[in-house]
Amino acid sequence: MHEWALAEAILATAKQISEKENLKEITEVTVMIGQLQDVERRILRFAIKETKSDFFQKTKFHFLKSKTTLKCRVCGASWKFRKESLDKTTIEAIHFVPEVAHTYIKCPKCKSPDFEISSGRGVWIQSVKGVKNQ
Ligand SMILES: [Zn+2]
Repeated sequence: MHEWALAEAILATAKQISEKENLKEITEVTVMIGQLQDVERRILRFAIKETKSDFFQKTKFHFLKSKTTLKCRVCGASWKFRKESLDKTTIEAIHFVPEVAHTYIKCPKCKSPDFEISSGRGVWIQSVKGVKNQ
């Protein structure tokens, strides 16, 4: 499952940040998950718990959902993606192939299917808090 790969990536990135910021321990990591990503937070949390090193013993992990914003390439309108406006089959399709979104979602203004995802894609670390080395 990709949650396990994600867990590894999150831990590796958090470790890198702690080295750059000269932290001797990390107390808090906030992870943003793009709405279109559909990551199982329960599995991700478990994967992190299972794979983390001692360095993360005191670390609290927060997982927040990030809203997806779409921007029309034709008329420039931007709008928030709302899952509730799609039917279940469509949501499943988008889950497996995010690119499929273009088939189902259209600009609310000019009805063009040519849009870009301007925010809310992927998984990224929003913040790392910790204790600095003296
Ligand atoms: Zn448009």
